[in-house]
Amino acid sequence: MNILLLGSGGREHALAWKIAASPLAERFYCAPGNAGIAKECEVVALDIADHAAVIAFAKAHSIDLVVVGPEAPLCAGIVDDLAAAGIKAFGPSKAAARLEGSKGFTKDLCKANNIPTAAYARFTAAAPAKDYVRAQGAPIVVKADGLAAGKGVVVAASVAEAEAAIDMMFGGGLGEAGAELVVEEFLQGEEASFFALCDGETAIALASAQDHKRALDGDQGPNTGGMGAYSPAPVMTPELSRRAMDEIVLPTVRAMKAMGAPYKGVLYAGLMITAQGPKLIEYNVRFGDPETQVLMLRLMSDLVPALVASSDGMLKNFDLRWYPDAALTVVMAAKGYPGSYAKGSVIEGLEEAAQIEGVEIFHAGTKAEGGRIVANGGRVLNVSALGKSVGEAQARAYQAVDRIRWADGFCRRDIGFRAVERERKL
Ligand code: AMP
Repeated sequence: MNILLLGSGGREHALAWKIAASPLAERFYCAPGNAGIAKECEVVALDIADHAAVIAFAKAHSIDLVVVGPEAPLCAGIVDDLAAAGIKAFGPSKAAARLEGSKGFTKDLCKANNIPTAAYARFTAAAPAKDYVRAQGAPIVVKADGLAAGKGVVVAASVAEAEAAIDMMFGGGLGEAGAELVVEEFLQGEEASFFALCDGETAIALASAQDHKRALDGDQGPNTGGMGAYSPAPVMTPELSRRAMDEIVLPTVRAMKAMGAPYKGVLYAGLMITAQGPKLIEYNVRFGDPETQVLMLRLMSDLVPALVASSDGMLKNFDLRWYPDAALTVVMAAKGYPGSYAKGSVIEGLEEAAQIEGVEIFHAGTKAEGGRIVANGGRVLNVSALGKSVGEAQARAYQAVDRIRWADGFCRRDIGFRAVERERKL
């Protein structure tokens, strides 16, 4: 098969690493890619927001499967446009991508189908939203309806903070994404990410993972795209995974089919494990970043047939095998991230770091310049490792981190601490 992968982050490097290992992959391209992805396949300078350009490339290179990494092209309908041009793609249609593109859509779907989630109300004006906040009291959560690049959620500790968030969002602080809001109940518990592969009719569970969203050790500091992750998530017991499938993922797949928008692709459920069981915080319609980096390390089966089966509606009798090992990834970011940061500093020691047993280094924001690797983004490297336990994977990943020479970079030193603590108690 000739395969085209779209995206340029660590998630896409992990997918590229796994796709490149498939005996089914004949010619394999990634657009726009990065310096690490360039080691797995041919990278092409395509603007992936330009659907016509992607289609023209796919036709010219006889692409059999397009794998879409990020949510923006999915929500913009790239899978529909490719399908109309006769090109198979992995990922949901625009109508199905509303599960991520509109929080209000997802909340209404949950309510109509008894899917456990936080109690909520939707608003298009500030005054009624503030009345609702005052009636409910704090803590309370204010969310922009649309895609806001991770900035659309304010967990407000006080009514005043919630009111300020409402004013910011309706005041245009998040652009179009904030034209409508969801205000919802604050859920208490431990968070976990749960992934399922869907084909419009059915779904199979992938693995669970946990990530660390805050920039600094001890889950302190500002929110980020994710500073590290590990899999499996010990909080997701087999019983909780079964409940997440039966109570959340499968009812969603059935509901999407019933409304004529069958969901294909990977469904990423952000869960809160509450005293009553798993509740849905939000859906994402693509693989998580950096969770994919740990999932791909643990996946024993070939990824490509699974992606094709999802696209073709053939997952019913499909089975995926996983290594029993744990995997952990540490994000190395440019100093200043998630605020402003510089690009262009040189990174050395990557080869020595990759020699440590079980270690795989995925590039998230790099480019090659005169034979050297330089930083080219906020999140720059995903130093990842397999181990017999989360503790062993963690030790290997940090050993590798310590071999990387990059003066302008930083990372958290405690990725996986909850799981390692749990392992110590066993
Ligand atoms: P989201 O973008 O919806 O995943 O929200 C970002 C983060 O906000 C989540 O990972 C949670 O930590 C937090 N969050 C969102 N909704 C809630 C909620 N209803 N209760 C508690 N925390 C929440």
